[in-house]
Amino acid sequence: MKNEIKIIVVVLALITVINYGNAQTNAAIAGMNGVTGSREKVEMLFPGGKTKALILSFDDGMIADRRLVRLMNEYGLIGTFHLNSNKLGTKDYLTKEEIKTVYKGHEISVHTVNHPNLTNISRAEVLYEVGADRRELEQLSGNLVRGMAYPFGNYNDSVIEIIKSLGIEYARSVEDSYAFGIPNDFLKWSPTIHQFGKAYFTPDNPDIDKKEMAGFYHLVNQFLKTDSLALMDVWGHSWENDGAGDRWTEMEKFFKMVSRNPDIFYTTQIGLVDYINAFKNLKFTIDQSIVTNLSSINVFIKIKGKAFDLDAGSTRFLQ
Ligand SMILES: [Zn+2]
Repeated sequence: MKNEIKIIVVVLALITVINYGNAQTNAAIAGMNGVTGSREKVEMLFPGGKTKALILSFDDGMIADRRLVRLMNEYGLIGTFHLNSNKLGTKDYLTKEEIKTVYKGHEISVHTVNHPNLTNISRAEVLYEVGADRRELEQLSGNLVRGMAYPFGNYNDSVIEIIKSLGIEYARSVEDSYAFGIPNDFLKWSPTIHQFGKAYFTPDNPDIDKKEMAGFYHLVNQFLKTDSLALMDVWGHSWENDGAGDRWTEMEKFFKMVSRNPDIFYTTQIGLVDYINAFKNLKFTIDQSIVTNLSSINVFIKIKGKAFDLDAGSTRFLQ
């Protein structure tokens, strides 16, 4: 009888240790989900302890990107550019030779070879459209290309499975969230808002344009004012600015509003993915007194109301 009790106690103790251990290993992930249990919640901050992140992503790689990138550079902004390799060098698209220089300091990302609707083509075609685009863009840019934007924003589970097998780590849709959340699933990444909302979507309707434009700036101001952890991810196309209205002026006004702000972490899409993955991969002791940052980037966290700068590849006490 005595021995049975002993065994039960040992088994119970082991279960507790195993559960607690797992919970601790996933402390960062659990913290993100707000699952704190008896532990302290580990909050993610952006680099430098900032609470806001801004991503600007533009699709198609048409010649208006030259002007857009110039404007972004002037305001110290960085972007992610999703390109169709087979269109480069054709009428109104950038040449293959210039993409390395035009997008210097920005991220180049997949938008497929020919811009098809990926949900309407065969598996072999999806493999080609994404794989060959990635390969060509890597050769042209002389860099890794690890993300994409879905042409027309269309995807399904089979498309996701294929792009994953090709090493694509995130993919942006065109379903605006009108929110500042951090993406849960990088392969189903909804942006915050299209440039100027849906202004100019309906031709010759200045009332709608005005309303949408006001809604866009309202959201930008909300982002600038919030104290909570916030990601604003604005997407669009440089070529849209050549259409009706004075959109280049609006673009510059928007860039001016968000540029050189010490509270904002300016990043590319892959930059944010890498940062979040580094945060999720932090290792804590069970009592949360020591943490190891195995990644090659500094990670900022907040625990028990205190902010910590965790240097890349370092182990430190949280006190
Ligand atoms: Zn496109």
